[in-house]
Amino acid sequence: MTTPPDVAAALLEVRGLCKHFPTQHGWLGRSQLVRAVDGVSFSIAEGETLGLVGESGCGKSTTGKLILRLQDPTAGEILWNGRPIHNLSQTELRPVRRELQAVFQDPYASLNPRIRAAEIVAEPLRNYEAMSSAQARERVASLFERVGLRPDQMVKYPFEFSGGQRQRLGIARALSVQPRLIVCDEPVSALDVSVQAQVINLLMDLQQQFNLSYLFIAHDLAVVEHISHRVAVMYLGRIVEIAPKRTIFTSPQHPYTEALLDAVPVPDPRVRKNRRVLTGDVPSPINPPPGCHFHTRCPYAEERCRIESPPMREVAPGQFVACHLRQPASIEHPTGIPA
Ligand code: SF4
Repeated sequence: MTTPPDVAAALLEVRGLCKHFPTQHGWLGRSQLVRAVDGVSFSIAEGETLGLVGESGCGKSTTGKLILRLQDPTAGEILWNGRPIHNLSQTELRPVRRELQAVFQDPYASLNPRIRAAEIVAEPLRNYEAMSSAQARERVASLFERVGLRPDQMVKYPFEFSGGQRQRLGIARALSVQPRLIVCDEPVSALDVSVQAQVINLLMDLQQQFNLSYLFIAHDLAVVEHISHRVAVMYLGRIVEIAPKRTIFTSPQHPYTEALLDAVPVPDPRVRKNRRVLTGDVPSPINPPPGCHFHTRCPYAEERCRIESPPMREVAPGQFVACHLRQPASIEHPTGIPA
């Protein structure tokens, strides 16, 4: 597989990352593997946002958990600043954990309902820094202000906040230890649209201010388009296309990316799109189709798609695609996918 281009400057790099869960299947209880993540490679540079998109169950969130080392990978490598972290013990991981934080979809579920907001934000801080109560209080008050909460809200409990405020609280908690990369797993999908925009703008402001990197996992392409610098598209545990945001949204090359973009609603009813509608369900990751995983739903599938897994190739500068019908830009291919 061709390696994506910005590896030299990568803060985070994953290579051939896999997570296979053993499971009992069928009435005979045969043991099988769920291939939740199946050979994922990408990198994220300092100050960059990589959007990770795909239908539910494609392995996006598992990828995020593997990077955070909340789950151990079955195979592959995770490099943090060039240093392998996939095989570190929990003790050895401690300094990395400080730099690698998370913001999850449901802030209410990820905040302890029994402790006050100030304590929630101060908790990771106390884990890493020796400081007096007065110092901690001062730091928390400034974080509250930085994420758009009032210092007088520090004494409240999570249930006293709105959904958007709870997400701000989750962001303040992640920020408290001065991370370098935050895995944002569907951070706005549970929020109203108007609140979503505020939280996205906050994340972008914080990125500017602290040179943060984000892995931004989402199924909403409009949100991903707004916040990302590059976008990776996942299907059934594999990345099928990765490219700069503008390239993905104006010139997608993988049939699955095209179908995802076609499914985005257009607000103006006078604009009619020639939509390519995906039919069929996502196949089970327990027994994924051989060859190209997408061949059971791809309108352009050929015989070899059912047999050979397409390698990831650079088809335009910075645009990597795993499809037999896409060749490097310098090579004329007779069977180009119809536009
Ligand atoms: Fe479709 Fe074949 Fe390309 Fe897979 S490799 S996306 S099945 S054309």
